Amino acid sequence: MVSLKGKVLLKKAAAHLFKGSYAGLGQIIVLHRVLPKSNVIRVRNTGIEISPEQLEEIILFYQKNNYHFISIDQLPTYIKENKGKFVIFTLDDGYIDNLTIAYPIFKKYAVPFTIYITTDFPERKAVLWWYLLEELLLKHTQLKFNYAGIEYFYTLETIEDKEGAFGQIRALIKSLKPSQQQELFAHLFTARGIDLLKKTNELALSWVQIQELAADPLVTIGAHTVSHASLAVLSPKEILDEVYDSVNLLQNKLAREINHFAYPYGGPEDVRLQEVKVLELTTLVSSTTGREGNIMFDHQYHLHALPRLYIGPKTTLEQLADFSSGKTPFLRGARCRVVTV
Ligand SMILES: [Zn+2]
Repeated sequence: MVSLKGKVLLKKAAAHLFKGSYAGLGQIIVLHRVLPKSNVIRVRNTGIEISPEQLEEIILFYQKNNYHFISIDQLPTYIKENKGKFVIFTLDDGYIDNLTIAYPIFKKYAVPFTIYITTDFPERKAVLWWYLLEELLLKHTQLKFNYAGIEYFYTLETIEDKEGAFGQIRALIKSLKPSQQQELFAHLFTARGIDLLKKTNELALSWVQIQELAADPLVTIGAHTVSHASLAVLSPKEILDEVYDSVNLLQNKLAREINHFAYPYGGPEDVRLQEVKVLELTTLVSSTTGREGNIMFDHQYHLHALPRLYIGPKTTLEQLADFSSGKTPFLRGARCRVVTV
């Protein structure tokens, strides 16, 4: 018979073992922008911006914990052969600060990284509506517009009002196909004299800059669709067009094979099993989502539904340690071990 003390010890040992199995083989980090901190009042978008100091701290954390810094190209082999704990850095969309601020830091530590490009960014066709909307909401105390026969009205007295309006308008934009989005942007921005491409020219990498990055063996370029539409609102044919048009354009511009993809937005409402099944039909090697999870041995069978670890400006090193050790995924429950969609 096992004593009470013995049972507690057994439980602790089991929890310790489980935690380890939730740590998996490594993780894929998702970032967007790296830029110096500022005290300017903001609405919503700060979640995709980390500081250069934070990026350096994250790299040092993984270095101290003996992780291998690998590229997404090495992922399938690393999973199959269990070559050691790994971390893969990825940045979504294609912002200029990836070149001007993040790149010198990655280079300093010889850390490989992937940038998933939405090709309408360098094509100067993407409307960076999340930044235009932020500016619009900060400027006004109320907002009224019509779309598809519906009148939208928001009172914007407080920051909370503005945050709330951002969330609702974001949901509306995401529910639309690219052509419908253009119609909404005309009502929302153009009618107020806002240049739709103002932020694109200011913030998005150009083709010359992407070519400069791609010339470095540390950098892998992946595709992130043409227009950054949520794939969930598109037909399978439209999804394949978004994927292949972006892949083909990147291949032509960079004269190299593009093998990796990231789903725009990447949340549960944007990537479901049906979108993954479409990506599995392509010639691409991997697709990453915005779901949170560590990479497990079984992910070799789910290379088009790879979870990532989202790091925002408020993510602490302690949270990072708890996640990579498996503690956080373990506490979240059994479904969080092999995270797919
Ligand atoms: Zn994105």
